[in-house]
This record gives sequence, C-alpha cells and structure tokens, in this order.
Amino acid sequence: MKYVSTRGRAPVLGFADTLLTGLAPDGGLYLPETWPTLRPGDLAAWSDRRYQDIAVDVMAPYVDGAMGATELGELVEQAYSSFDDPAVAPLRELGDGRWMMELFHGPTLAFKDLPLQLVGPLFDRELTKRGERVTVIGATSGDTGSAAIEALRDRDAVEVFIFHPAGRVSEVQRRQMTTVDALNVHNIALEGTFDDCQDMVKSLFADEALRHELHFSAVNSINWARLMAQVVYYVVAAARLAEQGPALSFVVPTGNFGNVFSGWVARRMGAPISGLHVATNRNDILARFFETGTMQIHRVEPTISPSMDIQVSSNLERLLFELYGRDGEAVADLLGEFREAGVVSVPPERLAVAS
Ligand SMILES: *Cc1c(COP(=O)(O)O)cnc(C)c1O
Repeated sequence: MKYVSTRGRAPVLGFADTLLTGLAPDGGLYLPETWPTLRPGDLAAWSDRRYQDIAVDVMAPYVDGAMGATELGELVEQAYSSFDDPAVAPLRELGDGRWMMELFHGPTLAFKDLPLQLVGPLFDRELTKRGERVTVIGATSGDTGSAAIEALRDRDAVEVFIFHPAGRVSEVQRRQMTTVDALNVHNIALEGTFDDCQDMVKSLFADEALRHELHFSAVNSINWARLMAQVVYYVVAAARLAEQGPALSFVVPTGNFGNVFSGWVARRMGAPISGLHVATNRNDILARFFETGTMQIHRVEPTISPSMDIQVSSNLERLLFELYGRDGEAVADLLGEFREAGVVSVPPERLAVAS
C-alpha cells in the first residue's frame, strides 16, 4: 500500500515510512492511496472469530509491502496479550437495541491502548530492522501519556519523554506514568497547563538541529498506524452484531477526530454503518461544524474530560480531503483560510459526502 498526503505535495510513501514519518513534510497527514474493501460475506463469517484474527485480515492490505500477514499476526498477538478480557473489546447489551463496546481492557484502561499496544511493537520492529533509534516526545493530560509509556517501555530502539502538567493529571494516571521502572521512560512534570506542555513539545520539534540529532518522533493520532488499528474494532462490532439488523450507528466521544474517523474508514471499507455521531463536551466546534458547515474557533474551555478539550481537531483534515475529492490543493487552501480567519465554511454538497 502507498500513502499520500492530504495536502498533495509530499512524497508518496510505503507503510513503514508513513509509520515513522508521522506528519507529512508538506504539513498534511498521510492516508492510503486507495481504500481496501471487505469481501462480501466476510462479516457474516466473522461473527464468532477472534478479535486478533479479524484484526489481521482488516489491517493486512494497509501494511502490504512492509510485512506479510504472518508477521502482522505475531505483532497483533503480542499487542493484545496484555488485555484482561479474552474478547479484547467486548460488547455489552444495554437494552433497546443499544450496545456498549468496552475499550478499557488494556493495561492503562485508556482506549488508546488498543492502537498504541500495536504501534509500540510496529515502531520497534521497523527501527530495529533499520538499525535506528528515535526519541518520542509528547504532551499529555493523562490518557495519551500513560498509554504511550506502557506501549514503549523497555523498547531498545525508543527513548520516551512525556510532559504532563504538574498537579493537573489524575492521581491514577500520574502513578501509571511515573512509577514505570524502565530506563527508556522519562517523565517531566511541568508547572503550567496542558497547553504549556504542548508548546514545549512544539518548540522542541521546531529546533531543527536538535530534532535531527535526537531523531524526534511522535505517537499521537496524526500517525496513520493508530487509526488503522482502531478501524478493527468498528469492523468487529459490525461482525458481532451482523444479525441484529441492517446497519449500526456509533456514538463516539471525540477530541482530535481520530477515533470517529477510524469508524468512517470502516464504513468506507464496506462495514454496514449508517451513522457516526460525534459526541463533544462544551468544546463543540465539531458538532457545530457538522450541523452548519461552518467551522469557527472559540477559546478552549477546560472540562472534566480533558481529552476532548480541543478546538482544532487534527484528523478532521483527513475527512476534508475525502469531502474535496482528494484534492490536496483545495484542502491546503481551506486550512490556510481557517488558520488566518479562525472561521471557514464547507458548502452543503461537500458536507453531504460525509453522511
Ligand atoms: C483520546 C480520548 C478522546 C478523544 O479521541 P480522539 O480520537 O482524539 O477523537 C476522548 N476520550 C478519551 C477518554 C480519550 O482518551
């Protein structure tokens, strides 16, 4: 599989380079050149199949050229062996045709374990193969930091530095991050807010010399591999519930738009998904955008769900690329306008492509 940038001006890469590059050099995000599709009958045949086995079939086309299904299978087994439920992401019936998919059975309880427990081994395998090392740096309000540390601890090819705002992460997550006995894990408690932490990471990335010397890298959700791993549980839900009715509708708590975009990919691959509902807190720029077609930035308001306290959701760019018929130049213009004016509108006929 080849990967293209949403802004159309970056080199086309294979899976392994996409994994290690993260953000494309033209400022865009990588997406597969074409969307693989599920075969008719796949979902019906998968209703009782193990999560891990479905995962291999869903992801194999995306890693094609970088590794085969057998090797992918080994990494997938390794990734989900740390989960405390054999179903990995079990479905519980709530009644009235409603179900809850439990995404908290990983080692840190954050749903981010589902992608990161796989991205950790993928990173390590590719770097070891190349004889390279990277320094992963990140900022966290809790979930990302614990899940990234747990996924990357004790990996020889990776050094991890995570910034968190001192006194502003939950006590459980503070301990999850700072009591890890691994030589490659480094926590920095910063006196300030999450935004100060993020600014620190950004300024480190902006230091070209340091960036090259230490091979900075990131494992946030702009990384395609994370989204790819999340597509799996939407397909699994569709397979498990195939007999319940014609199509499913998902409600997805949303921050950076990574999780819900993975649901969009599952639908694009042919999973019977009739609706994807973006749930937000008071920071509702996305809800307003999908209702009106206008994206207007407000100030970030802190809430009790800090992972969703976001105004500019990076992964929305991937959906815009699809809404604009994969025209990278149009996406670059639109985002340029948004950055300058703080507001931008998408015509209804484009937005309709999303629904
Ligand atoms: C990361 C996270 C989100 C946001 O997910 P996105 O993929 O960024 O939209 C929402 N809730 C919790 C608890 C999270 O950890």
